Amino acid sequence: MKEHVPMSRYTTLGTGGPARWFDTPGTVEELVDRLAWAASEGVVVAVVGLGSNLLVADEGFPGVVLKLTGELARAETVEGALVAGGGVPLAVCLHRARAAELGGIEFVCAIPGTVGGAVWMNAGAYGGDVAGVLTRALVADASGADWRTPDELGLRYRSSGLRRGQVVASAEFALESRPLAEIKETVAAMQSQRKAAQPTNKRTFGSVFKNPDHDLSAGRLLEACGLRGFAIGGAQISPKHANFIENAGEACSADAVALIAEARRRAREQFGVLLQPEVQLLGALEIPTLDPQR
Ligand SMILES: Cc1cc2nc3c(=O)[nH]c(=O)nc-3n(C[C@H](O)[C@H](O)[C@H](O)COP(=O)(O)OP(=O)(O)OC[C@H]3O[C@@H](n4cnc5c(N)ncnc54)[C@H](O)[C@@H]3O)c2cc1C
Repeated sequence: MKEHVPMSRYTTLGTGGPARWFDTPGTVEELVDRLAWAASEGVVVAVVGLGSNLLVADEGFPGVVLKLTGELARAETVEGALVAGGGVPLAVCLHRARAAELGGIEFVCAIPGTVGGAVWMNAGAYGGDVAGVLTRALVADASGADWRTPDELGLRYRSSGLRRGQVVASAEFALESRPLAEIKETVAAMQSQRKAAQPTNKRTFGSVFKNPDHDLSAGRLLEACGLRGFAIGGAQISPKHANFIENAGEACSADAVALIAEARRRAREQFGVLLQPEVQLLGALEIPTLDPQR
């Protein structure tokens, strides 16, 4: 097990201090073994996928961070289904499905995460989400691993019922036969829509907030609050889409948290809307609470 590994290497924003311990289990047995060790030692445990929706404290994480590798990072298609380890990048899933002329997960072309992160978040885009294609997921914890249905996983809008210490080791997706040309066309359309609306080739962690129950999306609300381009330290609200924070220079996680707090404050003040973060926090990071009654 490695020690004091900088998490800035493992987050798409490029911020975050060191993990006290860092390990890369390659099989379900190794994964359960690490989780059992952490439980017996009273050590907190976290998993990192591609770190594409993750903000890690600048002080680091005082527990063990696991990154799935080996068998847990392989994908194959089997009789109309895609079977993928929790550590497989969604781009690889799409590639495998496309090669087998299987459709249904084209929406992941817009999401730079792994299978495990996507199940944890119930990731989705363009009308599709994980809950719509997932058949079951193998969830490991300190006592072993068992298969769970989407209902048992408690998948909801950008969240699941999974808790820290529960790790998605593998997942199965039900896909349908689709001509290659159709898959390519759908993916190209989604990608060009994405490029037109959101920052690309920037260090971000995707959507900062979930879309609220409001006529305006989180991005439109924050844009109306005049926040496009607003910066604190090295972090900046994207000039292109106000629900993204970019690392515009030497940002640290505290800069991003300060921007999140200011954006929530303004959305609340100007629209009476209490925005809920979509980004996942690791380590001693806290977003100041706002009184929900006001
Ligand atoms: C440019 C950009 C665009 C994006 N667009 C979208 C979009 O359109 N739709 C969308 O839904 N998201 C989007 N995201 C956010 C992000 O890609 C997704 O939330 C993705 O599912 C996160 O996956 P990850 O592997 O990077 O997880 P991480 O960011 O590494 O982790 C996120 C959470 O999942 C947990 N986790 C990771 N792996 C596992 C595992 N194996 N088992 C259990 N828990 C695990 C982590 O502990 C953490 O709590 C975007 C991000 C970026 C940077």
